[in-house]
Amino acid sequence: MENRLKPMDAEQLREYGHKMVDFIADYYKTIENFPVLSQVEPGYLRNLLPDSAPNQPDSFQHVLDDIQAKILPGVTHWQSPNYFAYYPSNSSVAGFVGEMLSAGLNIVGFSWIASPAATELEMIVLDWLAKMLKLPEDFLSAGQGGGVIQGTASEAVLVVLLAARDKVLRRVGKDALEKLVVYASDQTHSSLQKACQIAGIHPENCRLLKATSSTNYALSPEFLSETISQDLTIGLIPFFLCATVGTTSSTAVDPLLSLGKIAKSNGMWFHVDAAYAGSACVCPEFRHYMDGVEVADSFNMNAHKWFLTNFDCSALWVKDRSALVQALSTNPEYLKNKASQANMVVDYKDWQVPLGRRFRSLKLWMVLRLYGLENLQCYIRNHIKLAKHFENLIAQDPRFEVVTPRIFSLVCFRLLPVRNNESHGNKLNHQLLDAVNSTGSAFISHTVLSGKYILRFAVGAPLTEEKHVNAAWKVLQDKATSLLAESL
Ligand code: PLP
Repeated sequence: MENRLKPMDAEQLREYGHKMVDFIADYYKTIENFPVLSQVEPGYLRNLLPDSAPNQPDSFQHVLDDIQAKILPGVTHWQSPNYFAYYPSNSSVAGFVGEMLSAGLNIVGFSWIASPAATELEMIVLDWLAKMLKLPEDFLSAGQGGGVIQGTASEAVLVVLLAARDKVLRRVGKDALEKLVVYASDQTHSSLQKACQIAGIHPENCRLLKATSSTNYALSPEFLSETISQDLTIGLIPFFLCATVGTTSSTAVDPLLSLGKIAKSNGMWFHVDAAYAGSACVCPEFRHYMDGVEVADSFNMNAHKWFLTNFDCSALWVKDRSALVQALSTNPEYLKNKASQANMVVDYKDWQVPLGRRFRSLKLWMVLRLYGLENLQCYIRNHIKLAKHFENLIAQDPRFEVVTPRIFSLVCFRLLPVRNNESHGNKLNHQLLDAVNSTGSAFISHTVLSGKYILRFAVGAPLTEEKHVNAAWKVLQDKATSLLAESL
């Protein structure tokens, strides 16, 4: 059969591209009409789509119609202004057009030669962002360190854990793997645990130290010190500490400087996870939450969370890039080239797990250039102001309480248990969460702190305004009223 396919025809790209941009723009115009949390049942799509792919091409309009009728009902609208769950995952016009360009060029920049601009722009843009965050100079690419864009914070912690593991094993001998110990608080994101599983760290050597309300769920340096001493006494080898600025459950901030000093005095790698809260630290008034980062070996923030850069874009900086390269480099014949052999360039394939990598720096570059630091600071401040506003609304209703101090744009709160019955209180808050989310008019999520079921209200979607916060609060209040009436 004659080959009629022209997969990258410029005129067809123009036609479909314009139509798709119109479709997406209309989506954003009408985004509030959708239930924020998708209300479909598991398996809903099987009944709506054919069993196998078509033999003959379908029309573009037909596909768009199917997206509208069949796909969008199964979408949870992360960009809705009424989205307050988990943490935000921002999109923006700048991030979107950067993503579009990245998809358009579709290069695979594993080494410098594979697309020099991809590597060089990534180095430059991460230096820019490092300066915005006032990271110490050791993290800049001019010295021994530098930044790299990983897909996610999970990949970031994995690669630095692998670098730290190999570094310590070179020192103490490769048979010592079973003695290596990792430390973090029990509030640390589960990605650390997954990284330990992948890196072969023995599960019993993964110390997730209990953090309590007495430290607002931050890791206690004394507790860390004691645990390390005990481990040393029994011949174990402490080698990795992960601290968090803005934990996932409640935005707790670990005391970086004290923790980092302990790590350093024990020859350990010190990683700082600021996946969510790192964005706030571009504002001078929040930068102090990162104080102590100067003693860290690596620092991570997700520009795709709260920094208007479409998913995925997780920025990781290290002080000693050779540690990453020693752990992760390979040098197969088919990738050899003059620039790499002469050690004149950075080959990002040696800083990450996969070989292939997208041109992700384009979207971060677009965000930084098209918005500028001042606008980005205002953006963050506005969300924090809205979160404060929500906190004030809660304070005016005696049926509710704010559970942990609000630091950034997340409010942890709950409906107070009736007659101090905590287990009934947990059930009540769970019911409240389900009741609110099933309305489709707002989406919030939950966590458990010290055995209490807590509701999380995270402000951070790009379109959220005060009216959306007020509307969500009204739904919460109304649902609480009904539930309390039922439980009498
Ligand atoms: N670290 C923190 C503090 C987080 O809040 C999250 C996700 O919310 C992660 C790590 C994991 O992020 P990612 O999905 O980029 O792996």
